[in-house]
Amino acid sequence: MANPPREACGVVGVYTPGEEAARTAFFGLFSLQHRGQESAGIASADGRTIFCRREMGLVSQAFHEFDLDRLPGDMAVGHTRYSTTGASYLDNAQPLEVTGSNGRLALGHNGNVINAVSLRTELEETWGLRFTTATDSEVIAQLLANAPGVTWGERLGYMMRRLQGAYSVVALTPTEMIAFRDPLGVRPLCVGMFRGGWVVASESCALDHIGAKLLRELEPGEAVLIDSEGLHSIHKGNDGRHALCSFEYIYFARPDSILDGKLVHAARREMGRQLAAEHPVNADMVMGIPDSAIAAGTGYAEASGLPYQEGLVKNRYVGRTFIQPDQRLRDLGVRLKFNPLPEVLEGKRVVVVDDSIVRGTTTPHVVNLLRSAGAKEVHLRVCAPPILSPCHFGVDMARKSEMIAANKTVAEVCKFIGADSLGYLSVNGLFKAIGRPHAHSCSACFTGNYPVEVQLEMDKLALERP
Ligand code: AMP
Repeated sequence: MANPPREACGVVGVYTPGEEAARTAFFGLFSLQHRGQESAGIASADGRTIFCRREMGLVSQAFHEFDLDRLPGDMAVGHTRYSTTGASYLDNAQPLEVTGSNGRLALGHNGNVINAVSLRTELEETWGLRFTTATDSEVIAQLLANAPGVTWGERLGYMMRRLQGAYSVVALTPTEMIAFRDPLGVRPLCVGMFRGGWVVASESCALDHIGAKLLRELEPGEAVLIDSEGLHSIHKGNDGRHALCSFEYIYFARPDSILDGKLVHAARREMGRQLAAEHPVNADMVMGIPDSAIAAGTGYAEASGLPYQEGLVKNRYVGRTFIQPDQRLRDLGVRLKFNPLPEVLEGKRVVVVDDSIVRGTTTPHVVNLLRSAGAKEVHLRVCAPPILSPCHFGVDMARKSEMIAANKTVAEVCKFIGADSLGYLSVNGLFKAIGRPHAHSCSACFTGNYPVEVQLEMDKLALERP
């Protein structure tokens, strides 16, 4: 049956008055591919009805030229879905389509609703609604499609009072596009202008690629409505709190995106500088693990005065695709992804900067690969502080029992991964690098302090149980 609700995804919404929007949404989705590789979907609206296509795989695998021709209209929303394990299910691909007392909607969601199980039961029992997927996103869609209220602003207000957790959403009716962000602003969402139209996207890099200008990021708890009259802010539901995910800066977002006014690349570079200050070491060179730790690697090199060198070349086309490698290939592990440069590494004491260690599966292989290419010493420096607690707000991060830092000391982790030394960035150092207050960020994976009390250890199959 259907798959876990816990995922980080990419969403995009496009309004191009008088022009077909699906093609632009396609290119927007393309630039959000890093946020999800399991499935892709686009829904369009032509003023009368909604059209939708969802497929498994990468955006380029899910859509061909003729598929876009079947998505008419000047409004479109798109979604890329991320999932970490096991088989993939088309049922859970988005945009989702639902019909309720407020009409028909197509909706794409990034985040995770922590009270989805109880809300779903309530909607089934008291509103008589029927659910067709096992996702928290359908709870959002049904709630919005059936919420009391005359205006979308009133319905969104009701919906936001009921939902708990993380949700950045783009939704489409036959005539309007609605985008909203949860009151804590956990996942990003920004809006831009585009040749007389509008674009909403998880990250600003999607706007850049389609030639849109970033106007601003949606405020936590804000909803905007876009129609033929333009863009209107129709709901403000923030109580002064903000809990933007700090892992977006470390790993998820693209370096060329701007999150809460800060370029991710600049934040990562600063993480590297902080790491150099917190964990200096005598070495010959610094390298960042491509792609997510390159900026941090250059920051470490700048601050330490050590030369930056490229020690690993990444095959950029080995991502998470729907093709599951067979066991023989799986055993090759990181070899499929990285190729070391012995000419660079031979005889060197190497500082290796990586973004994060979660289970500790990848890093020992990387250390091994560098040693086999001749590195004399390998000193690992990690941008994320030790990851100790699971994420309930949209990043699939493994269970606590699987997290290596939750179960071993730093010295034990160092031994396990086979490095000569290991240094994690401190939580303070991280927020110094990001340049925004810790109090306005979610750091639950490092501190265990969740921005909303998490009642239960939500497991992946929570919505699948009868
Ligand atoms: P692990 O092998 O479990 O320690 O995973 C660590 C590596 O996976 C990191 O170096 C990241 O590049 C990547 N990573 C971190 N978080 C995630 C995530 N939520 N989903 C997929 N990959 C991740």
